[in-house]
Amino acid sequence: MHILISLLLFASSPSTAAEPLQGIATTNAGTIRHWKKLPVELCSASNLPNHIQTELQNAISTWNSAFAQPVFSLKCKTNTTDFQKDKPEEHTIFWVTGRFGSTGDPLAIARTLSTFDEDSGELFDADILLNSESFDWSQLRIDPQSVLIHELGHMLGLQHLPISSHSVMHQYPYQSGIIRRKLSHYELEAINRKYFGSNKSIPAHIDAYFRKDFVRAIQLLKNSTNRDAESYYMQGRIELITNKTSHAIDSFKKGIKLDGSNPLIQYALSEAYSKARQLQLAKSTLKGLLKQFPNYYEGHADLGVIQLEEGNTSDAIASLKRAVEINPVHYPACILLFKLTRQQNYKACYVRFAPKDRSLSEADTSGT
Ligand SMILES: [Zn+2]
Repeated sequence: MHILISLLLFASSPSTAAEPLQGIATTNAGTIRHWKKLPVELCSASNLPNHIQTELQNAISTWNSAFAQPVFSLKCKTNTTDFQKDKPEEHTIFWVTGRFGSTGDPLAIARTLSTFDEDSGELFDADILLNSESFDWSQLRIDPQSVLIHELGHMLGLQHLPISSHSVMHQYPYQSGIIRRKLSHYELEAINRKYFGSNKSIPAHIDAYFRKDFVRAIQLLKNSTNRDAESYYMQGRIELITNKTSHAIDSFKKGIKLDGSNPLIQYALSEAYSKARQLQLAKSTLKGLLKQFPNYYEGHADLGVIQLEEGNTSDAIASLKRAVEINPVHYPACILLFKLTRQQNYKACYVRFAPKDRSLSEADTSGT
C-alpha cells in the first residue's frame, strides 16, 4: 500500500532529462539539436480529425507569430496513417490508433520523436504522435491546441520546464482542462537566440535550473525584483526538489497570495504539505483547489489517498472515482478502487494501463 501512496502523491515529480544548452536539447556529443533551415515543413496524417487539423493550424500560428520569420509551415498530407511507416523527409503529425506504447510511456497524451546527427546536432526528422489509442479525445477536457503547442516546442528542441506554471513546456495535467497557449520567456528567448541572432539568454534562473545549479537558481529568484506568483512557484518547485519542504510551503503560500487563480500553485502547496506529513493542511488545500477547479483530477486522487489513510473509505472511494472519471487512464486510482470496491471495471483499467514493472505487479497480486 505504501508504494501506491507515494506513487499517487508524487506522480508529477519532474523527470530528469539530458542537460540542455540555453534551454535546447543537446546530443550525447553535447551539440545543440537544430534544424538547418526554417520553417520546418510539417505534414498532417490523412486520418487527423478536422478539429485537430484546425487546432494544429492555430498552434502553428502561435509559434509563427512570435518570431521575425515563420518557424513552421503546414503544406502537405502524409499518405500513411502508420507512424512506423514514416518517411524521414516528412515531418508528420500522426493520429495514432495503435502501438503508441512502442515508443515509450503508453499513457502520454502525445510524444515527439526526433532523429538528428549525433555530432553536428542537425535534425533530420521529427514527428508528433497524438495518442488516440489510450485516450478518447472527444470525451476528455484536453485542449488539443495547448498539447500541440507543447509538442511543436519539442520539435524545435525545447525541454520540459516543470518548475514553471505558465510555460507551454510544463507537462500539464491536460485532462483537467488546462489551457496554455501563450509562449513564455523561456520559449521565446531560446528560439530567438538559436535561430534569429538574438544575444539575449534565457532567464538566468531557468538556465541555472537546467544546469541543476539549484542553489543559484533559488538565489537568483530571491534576488529578483517585482516578484510574481510564477517566480514563487519556481522557487517552491526547486525547494521541493531539494527537500527544503518548509521553505517550499512558504514560497507556494506567497505565490497563492499574489495569484489565487492558478491551480498549479495550490496543488503544489498540497504536495508540499503531504511531503511534510501535514495531512490536514494538505487536505484543506486540496479541497480549496477542487472547489475552484473541480476537474483537477490529480487533486481528487491525492485527496482520496489522504481520506483512505484517515480510514474514511466512502469519501476516499468518491474522490478516487472522480479522478478516474476525469482521467480514465489514472491507474493508481484504479488500483486503489479495485482493492476497495472489487469492481471489475477498475481491474480492467489497471490491467490495461498500469506499467508492468515489478513494484506494481507486486501491488497487483497482493490485492487479487
Ligand atoms: Zn513534453
